[in-house]
Amino acid sequence: MSTSSDLLILGGGIVGKACALALAQAGLNLTLLGARSLAQALPPERYTQRLYALNAASRQLLDQLRIWTHIPPERVQPVQAMHIRADGAQLAFQAKDARAEALAWIVESDAIEAALDLALRFERRVQIEPAQAARLSRPGDHRGWQVQTDDGRTLQATLLVGADGEHSLVRKASGIPMDVHDYVQRGVVANFVCAAPHDGSAFQTFADGGVIALLPLAPMQGRPMVSLVWSAPEPLAQELLALPPHALAQRVDAHLPALRAQHLGPLQAAGRASAWRLQRQLARRTVADDLVLIGDAAHRVHPLAGQGLNLGLQDVQVLAHTLQQRPAGQAINDPRLLRRYSRARAEQVLALATATDSLARLYAAQSRMPAPLRALGLHAANALPPLKQLLTRYASGLPYLA
Ligand SMILES: Cc1cc2nc3c(=O)[nH]c(=O)nc-3n(C[C@H](O)[C@H](O)[C@H](O)COP(=O)(O)OP(=O)(O)OC[C@H]3O[C@@H](n4cnc5c(N)ncnc54)[C@H](O)[C@@H]3O)c2cc1C
Repeated sequence: MSTSSDLLILGGGIVGKACALALAQAGLNLTLLGARSLAQALPPERYTQRLYALNAASRQLLDQLRIWTHIPPERVQPVQAMHIRADGAQLAFQAKDARAEALAWIVESDAIEAALDLALRFERRVQIEPAQAARLSRPGDHRGWQVQTDDGRTLQATLLVGADGEHSLVRKASGIPMDVHDYVQRGVVANFVCAAPHDGSAFQTFADGGVIALLPLAPMQGRPMVSLVWSAPEPLAQELLALPPHALAQRVDAHLPALRAQHLGPLQAAGRASAWRLQRQLARRTVADDLVLIGDAAHRVHPLAGQGLNLGLQDVQVLAHTLQQRPAGQAINDPRLLRRYSRARAEQVLALATATDSLARLYAAQSRMPAPLRALGLHAANALPPLKQLLTRYASGLPYLA
């Protein structure tokens, strides 16, 4: 059986689902392939493991999509301050200094997906197909794309949007080359109860054992909690993953004695750790004939700045704006239109990938930069309020929106 659609989004992660809603709100009918609704409700007594720091631009998009109000507010933690330590130097950002409501909001992946699923259920412009794509090809007349699904159907699309993550089939089918750097690190994540309140502060420490971030979570059953993202070199990551939860909590405490003494007190485990391999991947182009890449299909960055999903959601915002603003009569796969989207996204993605990559390499175990020199940069940044305001504004993602 063959079904035809003007627009087909392949990949039903957060970026694909948000894109489906944004394009539907822009008046387009589309198919979302590979989207499954979340199987379970959020467990009331614990956080699920994937948590994201959403910036102001992502929050704005989720507001526009009417998603934000469906995320339980008791599971959202605004970040009011960020303390960065490295080599004895410190850098602190405050939301109030930037006159912002918050520097970021920490939210569970599953809470965002559940809100997206709910909104998609009522969106008549979106046809949801849970099947996987098995093969992509260009038809004989080279117009649009054909997608063979794993349940034996063929779908046709005038414009194919690849939101299918790091191993993107869409990117491979397009022939767009990708630059890859393997950090030989894993992002080890785990949640903890902390003895003292975190007051909405996030902590990040650059140390010889990698970059350790502790992100504040909304209290669970009255207890203050934090989420760990430890970007650890591979052998250390394996060691951390092998520890029982209480021993991991002790290990984090031992690694961050100042944080334990001055801020959070001892940590107590709240579940097992898991880990993700860390790579930087940049597609050399984000558009090709009748095709657009968004989210991790187009770019993956080191998580030390917590910006990967934010970049993907900003792709969505810009793509929806570009397609909606096209002149009457212009086709959605017009190469000039796709190039406009690609140009609008290039600067932010490259700036962020370069900044996170430089920091990750500077503090990698094999870095040759002497610690006092690294500390000097942090001291200088801390002493310059206009520079801090600028950094906060760029991290919000707002300057890059169309
Ligand atoms: C440790 C760690 C911490 C992070 N923290 C943050 C943070 O704080 N803030 C932040 O902004 N980002 C963060 N990120 C980055 C973030 O996780 C990713 O950028 C984001 O999840 C990418 O979403 P996506 O929808 O593009 O891709 P994915 O989540 O990978 O979704 C891709 C979807 O496509 C589907 N798919 C793939 N192939 C097919 C196919 N053939 N047919 C059908 N469907 C298919 C998959 O099943 C999946 O549903 C972090 C990453 C790591 C590793």
